[in-house]
Amino acid sequence: MLKWNDVLSLSEQGVAPVEQAIEKTSEEWRALLSSEQFHITRHSGTESPFSSTMCSLFKRGIYRCTCCHVAGEETRLFDASEKFDSGTGWPSFTQPLIPNAVAYNKDSSQGMVRIEAICNTCKAHLGHVFPDGPEPSGLRYCINAISLHKISSSIDNDACD
Ligand SMILES: [Zn+2]
Repeated sequence: MLKWNDVLSLSEQGVAPVEQAIEKTSEEWRALLSSEQFHITRHSGTESPFSSTMCSLFKRGIYRCTCCHVAGEETRLFDASEKFDSGTGWPSFTQPLIPNAVAYNKDSSQGMVRIEAICNTCKAHLGHVFPDGPEPSGLRYCINAISLHKISSSIDNDACD
């Protein structure tokens, strides 16, 4: 399980690379994504809080990367079992699905230092990580719903719908 100190050191040292990274030019991404998706995922935008019904969704399933999805790759980022109601208006998770699914950048863009969460496969901006999440990890991955593509397995649908 990752904790805040791990996230800080990973933001400096980098996470283990994935087997098959996706690299595209800005123009290629622009052609694949909606303008809102492009702005948020490729230019570190932030969607308005409470702009997605995904915030109140707690059914089982896997949250994948929107950019990887449009590029034909189903990169798994978060499991719904790690999702919690942070009250912030953005989907919030306590852990990535696997440690190197998400990579980290120190972001000093708004007059403060924050840790940016990006997809380790395609480098899409996902959101930010904060050290005020629930125990035991104490982490809050504050993620734009636009950056996520949720898929429920058929078994999970039977159990939860
Ligand atoms: Zn991705």
